[in-house]
Amino acid sequence: MTELTDIQKTQLAKLEKKLRRHVGQAIAQYNMIEDGDRIMVCLSGGKDSYALLSILMILQKQAPINFSLVAVNLDQKQPGFPEHVLPEYLESLGVEYKIVEEDTYGIVKEKIPEGKTTCSLCSRLRRAVLYKTAKALGATKVALGHHRDDMIETMMLNMFYGGKLKSMPPKLVSDNGEHVVIRPLAFCKESELIQYSELKQFPIIPCNLCGSQPNLQRQNIKHMLNDWHDKFPGRIESMFTAMQNVVPSHLCDDELFDFKSISNESEIVDGGDIAFDEPDIKQSNVVEQEDNHKLQQLNIINIS
Ligand code: SF4
Repeated sequence: MTELTDIQKTQLAKLEKKLRRHVGQAIAQYNMIEDGDRIMVCLSGGKDSYALLSILMILQKQAPINFSLVAVNLDQKQPGFPEHVLPEYLESLGVEYKIVEEDTYGIVKEKIPEGKTTCSLCSRLRRAVLYKTAKALGATKVALGHHRDDMIETMMLNMFYGGKLKSMPPKLVSDNGEHVVIRPLAFCKESELIQYSELKQFPIIPCNLCGSQPNLQRQNIKHMLNDWHDKFPGRIESMFTAMQNVVPSHLCDDELFDFKSISNESEIVDGGDIAFDEPDIKQSNVVEQEDNHKLQQLNIINIS
């Protein structure tokens, strides 16, 4: 490990404080961790899961409640997987851990024809192994390292390609109904996690050992969001705030809101339409005036 300069040490302390605050906020807002919980932290060897473990270990020491942590890595037997990296790192932290060895790579290679996408089967297999491990370890919660940007990207992906307004929830019950899955990094920005990972010098294990291509749709969404962020600072923050401020009466899902029973006797719900129409009307008036002006200049209409 390279010795950090004084400036880098200050940067790290500030960043760690910020991440700790975000993680603490998410834990409190969604009641992610309770007294007596045994949290299984899924560690892939990527920056996000290292950061998750690191911050949870700090919070464990400061929290007014007791909870235990067990880090779990699944060695999927991908060619070139550096088996020694995670055990060495976890030993140095002094955290309880388990490395699970399952040749899911072999199964994926056998079942999926060459050139086809392997991620879907691979993820399902990995999930099944991790849930089985959580049960064996007596974990009450399973913590994953997805962050705010993953959640926004997933929402955009679902909107663009899945026809659903749906993201990754900060807390949910697993698809086999047996585990509570939590995402304590839900309020953390990816850019901060990248910087944190660099300063902490985590021993990153590359995620392309399986030889699979990155998900192009997700990459495109990521580029689009980064582009928006550069051109319109604050837009991403606003989108994430919007995900926490859903107004079912102003969307179109009749299972979420009872549109059918609206009548003249119904009460105004969430400000009616006024809050939304005003800016739009103003905007459309401006556009209309500009259009009229152009048309006038072209002598196409005659406004007195
Ligand atoms: S990138 Fe490779 S390891 Fe990751 S989910 Fe896809 S197939 Fe599995």
